[in-house]
Amino acid sequence: MRLSTFTDEARLALETLVERAQEIARPGVRLGVTGLSRAGKTVFITALVHNLIHGGRLPMFAPAAAGRIAGAKLDPQPDDAVPRFDYEAHIGALVHDRLWPQSTRMVSELRLTVAYESATFLGRHLGRGSLTVDIVDYPGEWLLDLSLMERDYAQWSAEAIGRLAARPAGEAGAALAAALQATDPAAPESEAEARRLAALFTAHLKARRADPEALAADPPGRFLMPGDLEGSPLLTFAPLMLPPGQAAAAGSLAAMMARRYESYRNHVVRPFFRDHFARLDRQIVLVDVLSALDRGPGAVRELQRVLTEVMAAFRPGRLSFLSGLIDRRIDRILFAATKADHLHHQDHDRLEAILARMVADASARARYAGATVQIAALAAVRATRQALVRQGSERLPAITGVPMAGEVIDGEVYDGQTEIALFPGDLPADPGVVFGLGGEAGLPPGTLRFARFRPPKLEQGPDGLTLVLPHIRLDRALDFLLGDRLA
Ligand code: GDP
Repeated sequence: MRLSTFTDEARLALETLVERAQEIARPGVRLGVTGLSRAGKTVFITALVHNLIHGGRLPMFAPAAAGRIAGAKLDPQPDDAVPRFDYEAHIGALVHDRLWPQSTRMVSELRLTVAYESATFLGRHLGRGSLTVDIVDYPGEWLLDLSLMERDYAQWSAEAIGRLAARPAGEAGAALAAALQATDPAAPESEAEARRLAALFTAHLKARRADPEALAADPPGRFLMPGDLEGSPLLTFAPLMLPPGQAAAAGSLAAMMARRYESYRNHVVRPFFRDHFARLDRQIVLVDVLSALDRGPGAVRELQRVLTEVMAAFRPGRLSFLSGLIDRRIDRILFAATKADHLHHQDHDRLEAILARMVADASARARYAGATVQIAALAAVRATRQALVRQGSERLPAITGVPMAGEVIDGEVYDGQTEIALFPGDLPADPGVVFGLGGEAGLPPGTLRFARFRPPKLEQGPDGLTLVLPHIRLDRALDFLLGDRLA
């Protein structure tokens, strides 16, 4: 057993014990919120906290519907070393400026304490309950790194180069391929060379990610979403065309890259899984299905592949590199298709069906691991309203909202003040169509019409006094993720 492994195990065991003891004194739940970049994590957490603190309309959240939530407030978080989720700035942007907040770039945490009346006879007689909810926001890209824990540098390098060869993806891919061809892995190690190749590799990963046909996300996750490691030497490595079966000579570029890869695994990947992921009880995975649909069947299939990779982290035994001592386990996972307010409500069930199809494999595995899985289509913040617009003798289902300043729709540039009605188009009744498999064309481009709408004006809360952000099915998500813990 290596010393670092031993330390990890001992620390995890101790932390779990301490957390368990604290939980008996004060019940708590650690809720992970993840998803790929721009899936809607920041907006979701902000809306969740805002609705609980201000008594939003949450009829499908059983404890709230029964009037048993006495109040909710923010408290200092338990982990001093983790940045705090900047709720105040985000809600300020949404509510006062009617602008979308700054997206997630790294892990952050927020503690919410919910006071409630128990629904059970015994619970009521024990007095008012209080549940601490620690919300952990982290980029889904970081979960991709799990695959690195099972591969050494040579294996990872071969796979990364295989992916590059299969899909060179434009100029950045060509530049990386040319540089790797011209690089001798046995050449003496060089800091400048490591930096140059790492920069080309990062540019390639980012270009693949930005490809409108793709959405591809490949590890290392921090190359896509560096968080606080922006510019860090931990991110200065790249794959090399290694001669098969040959060990890298001491002092060579290959040996240097392999060492850095090891450092990345030990100082970035392992601590993330140990300190954050392994301690979660509940998880919501947000998925921007609509933007993949907008880009076409290639992007839908790619999103499915990446989600399956991301979800591998929930498979039993995958965290064995940490230790067998983790007794915490995620027992509920919600997959949520976000931004459902871009569709007419008749299509929300269809959006759910598409997401269910997309994560079918991953969710079957999670069920196998003992977790209950649910699928939902939601809008944490509803920026549109439903309308029926008369066209000739017909009345067509439409949505209305204020496009963001600078948004271009049908050649017209909007000023951020004008309200419009839009026919978003319909999703297919058969969710399989959007994958474009078996010779099907998928959803033809232009079937759906999306616009970036401004966040809405506040609506009146149930007490008629408070003003809260409207949502779609946020209450259902809350009920699944927290309802049983407030029983
Ligand atoms: P993150 O990268 O996962 O933190 O993503 P954000 O929460 O920052 O969301 C990215 C963008 O998606 C936002 O800037 C909004 O434009 C849009 N968005 C997110 N959630 C919603 C929603 O509920 N409704 C609408 N209309 N747009 C949303």
